[in-house]
Amino acid sequence: MRKIVLTLLFCGVVSAALTPEEQAALNRISAASMRGHLSFLASDLLEGRATPSRGQDVAAEYIAAQFRRAGLEPAAPNGSYFQTAVREQIEQQPASFQLTWKAGAKQWSWKAADVLTMADHGIDLTDATVMPLAAGDISGKIVAADAEQNMNRRAIAQLRARKPALILLFRKGGRVPLSATQLVEPGKPAEAPVVLIFGEPNFAALASAADAKLSIHLPEPLHRKVNLRNVAAILRGSDPELSKQYLIFSAHYDHIGMKDSGDGDRIFNGANDNGSGTVSVVEIGAALATLPVHPRRSILFMTFFGEELGLLGAYYYTQHPLVPLQDTIANINLEQMGRTDEQDGKQINSYSFTGPSFSNIPKILGDAAKQEDIKIWAKNGADAFFGRSDNYAFAQAGIPAHTAVVAYEYPDYHGLGDEWEKVDYENMARVDKGLAAGLLALANAPERPQWNDIPATAEYRKAKP
Ligand SMILES: [Zn+2]
Repeated sequence: MRKIVLTLLFCGVVSAALTPEEQAALNRISAASMRGHLSFLASDLLEGRATPSRGQDVAAEYIAAQFRRAGLEPAAPNGSYFQTAVREQIEQQPASFQLTWKAGAKQWSWKAADVLTMADHGIDLTDATVMPLAAGDISGKIVAADAEQNMNRRAIAQLRARKPALILLFRKGGRVPLSATQLVEPGKPAEAPVVLIFGEPNFAALASAADAKLSIHLPEPLHRKVNLRNVAAILRGSDPELSKQYLIFSAHYDHIGMKDSGDGDRIFNGANDNGSGTVSVVEIGAALATLPVHPRRSILFMTFFGEELGLLGAYYYTQHPLVPLQDTIANINLEQMGRTDEQDGKQINSYSFTGPSFSNIPKILGDAAKQEDIKIWAKNGADAFFGRSDNYAFAQAGIPAHTAVVAYEYPDYHGLGDEWEKVDYENMARVDKGLAAGLLALANAPERPQWNDIPATAEYRKAKP
């Protein structure tokens, strides 16, 4: 008796074995096919797929063509694969930029080449008072600070939310790898201009003078309308009830574009980051589309724009969902699936999750992956990566969401050498089979996946859609 009970319990926790039809569909996931897709998406002619760029537009068209070829259903309105965000791209006009800081008898000036400005409107000030950035009310004030702690987009957005009139950030040393690209929502209220100032002197030296006065002429920037596109397709579920629930399987298809100057290769091809995730979504979508009986729940295959600029495409999606967020059971997002040369050790036949303890998804997908001889590896500090890719936008909307990664830290990350020839396609195809088995397990499971009840997930559990 006891033994029988144990056997039943054991059966209850193991993923359902794949049917022969499901295994046949997974076996269509092809290294050669992904090599073909990626050699195009990461080719020099696409110029690093920056947001926005013609190269990115071509990539979106290519992804849609692959969804169409596979017979996946368009997920956007009017039978389209494109979810279009209309934005204004802001172009600074550096020619007449002026910035002068006076303190007693001393005076410093900077040229446009020494600064990075993020401003959606011009500003003109003469001998204005500047205050050091501090906690408390800074609304309407001109604030200045040392930039070391304030260099990423999220921190800048938090500063802007405090409604200062102008933010000056000084950084001793070289320029930071922060894209100058600015995209704003048409009609959105203006935000405080931010001026990042590189080189000498640092802010501490400037701030020591009590009588500092600032003069600035920041010319009115140009606003240009751009269309940014998420690409989305549905594999409609087969269960009359559960097909109204969706699993989102995604990857960002943008990268960081090109270096503006210099000799030799200037193209950041972004083959592994994240051409590899993109072609995995395309390939797995095409494989599952051949199933004679679709999984019980529907699967939305998506590729996002603008991840590199702060998860823009994913946030656009969660603000403009194509299927109801409350019926979206999970987001499985892919990053960096093709390189195995992870800094913490080579990763063959294995992948990893960001925020692995945050939900029961890693367990469900891990059990399913075993059927394809793929294992889950644990990256040290994997929780810290949780907020660094598109899954985070879904988590903030309350949806259990993780990013699956083969190699987090690899040579050529955000480098000119991230080329398609360096990807291990055979390994990627094997790992993708393991992932696809996990998608089927999630899509067919009787229960929706859940956040684990731990302090790290409190904010996401509270946000439940
Ligand atoms: Zn990426």
